[in-house]
Amino acid sequence: NRPQPLERILQSQGFGSRKTARALVQAGRVAVNGQPCHQHDASFATEGLLLTVDEQPWPYRERLYLALYKPANFECSRTPQHHASVFSLLPEHFIVRGVQPIGRLDADTTGLLLLTDDGPYNHALASPRRHVPKTYRVSLKHAADTSLVAALLAGVQLHDEPAPLAARACSLLDEHQLLLTLDQGKYHQVKRMVAAAGNRVVALHRVAMGGLRLDAPPLQQLAEGEWCELDADGLALIQ
Ligand code: URA
Repeated sequence: NRPQPLERILQSQGFGSRKTARALVQAGRVAVNGQPCHQHDASFATEGLLLTVDEQPWPYRERLYLALYKPANFECSRTPQHHASVFSLLPEHFIVRGVQPIGRLDADTTGLLLLTDDGPYNHALASPRRHVPKTYRVSLKHAADTSLVAALLAGVQLHDEPAPLAARACSLLDEHQLLLTLDQGKYHQVKRMVAAAGNRVVALHRVAMGGLRLDAPPLQQLAEGEWCELDADGLALIQ
C-alpha cells in the first residue's frame, strides 16, 4: 500500500487516462478524504481512501464486486443488438475499469446479475466446475403439476448436451410458477430445460446466486435497475 500520485489513483479507479485524471484534479473536481485537492501529483495511501469526484463519493477499491437488479429488456453485452446494455445502468468509470458480468442473463430475464473487474474471480465463479447454484423463479405458459417438477429433477436431454441435465432443486410455487435451482449456466438453460419437459417459460427471474438472494440482506433494498457494491461478507454468501 505505497502512496501513489492522485492522478494514478484516479486512473486506476476508471476516471480516464492519466491526462484526463490530471485535468479533473486541475479543474478542482476532486477531493480526497473530504479535502479538495488541486495537486495531481500529491501522493496518498490507497487503503481506506475516499475520493470525491464532482461531489460524488467513491471509496477507493482495488477490485469491484457489484450486484445489479437487472430489469427486463437489457442485454448483458457491451454491444447490444436489440435493447439497451446493462452497462448503461452503471457509472461510466466502472465500465472504464473493465467490469464484466459473471455469466449472462437473457435480455428478457430479470433479477440478480453479478459483475466484477476481477478477472480470475469472474472466471472461477463462472467455471462449470464450481457449480454455483443459481435459483430462478420461472413463470410457465401452461399450468403445471408435480410431473414437471419430477421431470426436471430427473433430468432432461437437450439436443447439444451429451447427457441429461437435472435441476438441483425444483418446486411448484403455484400452477404457473416454479422455483428452480441449477448448478450450471448453459445457454438458455432454464428455457430449454422447461421446453424439453413439455412446458414453456414466459418470464424468468433470477432470485439468487448461491446463498446471495435479491430478497434478503444485503440486497433486499435494491430496486430494479439499481446496483450495489458487495463486500467480503456479501461475496461469502455466494459460496
Ligand atoms: N436460463 C435461461 O434460459 N435464461 C437465462 O437468462 C438464465 C438461465
